[in-house]
Amino acid sequence: MVITLVLRVRAFRTECRSWFDAASARRQLMPARETEAIILKTFPLGEADRLVSFLGRSSGRVRGVASGARRLKNRYGSTLEILSHVQIWYVEKETRELVRIQQAELLESFHKAQSDYGLSTGLAVISEVSELVLPEHEVSEAMFRLVLLAVREIERTGDWTLPLSYFAFWTVRLGGWLPRFDRCSQCGTPFGGKPAFYDARHSGLFCEKCRRSGMKSLQLGARNLAERFTGERFDRIALEKPMQESARELREASLAWIEHHTERRLASRELLETA
Ligand SMILES: [Zn+2]
Repeated sequence: MVITLVLRVRAFRTECRSWFDAASARRQLMPARETEAIILKTFPLGEADRLVSFLGRSSGRVRGVASGARRLKNRYGSTLEILSHVQIWYVEKETRELVRIQQAELLESFHKAQSDYGLSTGLAVISEVSELVLPEHEVSEAMFRLVLLAVREIERTGDWTLPLSYFAFWTVRLGGWLPRFDRCSQCGTPFGGKPAFYDARHSGLFCEKCRRSGMKSLQLGARNLAERFTGERFDRIALEKPMQESARELREASLAWIEHHTERRLASRELLETA
């Protein structure tokens, strides 16, 4: 009788232990994920950590914690700089919204752009727009490539004006927010060589007659540049002096449409005026 009881207790203990072992094994085996990524933004978190928002090629936009990243000696180095192109390893927690970032390795450095005030203003706009238009955990190969292309061109040319125009225009296009560029959204009159008009309160482009007060103009040159952006490889388009104004108009109009559709004001947009 006593022996049977002892055996039963032992069996019960063994069962408990194997159940615990299995549970802890499950926790440990929660696989680390890996993706090519672009760092969108980081914030200090507590004394030692950083909150990191990144756009993963295979994960979409994800937010996570890089623990110890604020310590002088840390394992992340310069990988968490804004718009760095990295390979990132992280673990998802079932119950929490934030992932745990384990490791990051730099794939491509944009040090020149990151350390220059004027150029980093361009990066800040790309970062803010991406944060705004990309839903969390939604993979977007097109946006990933667009962000990377724009940042590479800023780094390569040492100029943000044309890359930022291209980025803003294509973000509007990928968002499905681009109005017709050849005729008035309201009355249908073709613009021909005449200016078209826009603002952040409307989604369309308007003719001289339908324009509301305060609207800004989008001249033929800017509309032609949009056509080049659509049809030509971006790294083959060189910024020539006469294009400056068209690039500015197209960028301003695109950012206005982004603000209209996301119903948010872009804080970094004002910095562009002074950069
Ligand atoms: Zn009209």
